[in-house]
Amino acid sequence: MSVAICPGSYDPITLGHLNIIRRTAKIFDEVVVAVLHNANKTNPMFTDEEKVDMVRRAVSRYPNVTVESSDGLLAEYAKRWEGAVIVKGLRAASDFEYEFQMNLINKKLNPALETMFLTASEKYTFLSSSVVREMAIYGADLSGLVPNEIIDDIQKKAKLWRAT
Ligand code: ADP
Repeated sequence: MSVAICPGSYDPITLGHLNIIRRTAKIFDEVVVAVLHNANKTNPMFTDEEKVDMVRRAVSRYPNVTVESSDGLLAEYAKRWEGAVIVKGLRAASDFEYEFQMNLINKKLNPALETMFLTASEKYTFLSSSVVREMAIYGADLSGLVPNEIIDDIQKKAKLWRAT
């Protein structure tokens, strides 16, 4: 059975992420979406539990996709599935440099671990979680950027942020 891991901070999940997950689910038997605690992203908008809950609702229509969270290293986490492949989306040259470096580090920690990249859909190359957070804080319309199921959650959280 082929297993792919789609890792990310998903703070929050966007339609760009979902596009990569959906395409990965067509290629692999099982997809594990790993909501990772990123030590570099110090001021997340959502808690790990909220992120996992939103991702679960967004992927509920895909029967071969499951969602988990992890606060450890991806290279260690991936050892739970023999032969699992990491699948990531690539938006631009700037993503490539970072991802290339991460891939080399992961290889050092877990030489058997392979990483594959899917190019971002043209519609979503501009889209990132940080763009969504910023637009939400300014009260902009989020349709077409994030799954409809989670728009209310983001708007509620943005309201709290605006009030503080
Ligand atoms: P972000 O950069 O939005 O904070 P994450 O850290 O959650 O995202 O990224 C997880 C993975 O999803 C990365 O491989 C990233 O390149 C990919 N990704 C993020 N946004 C998009 C998008 N709009 N299209 C394709 N892939 C994306």
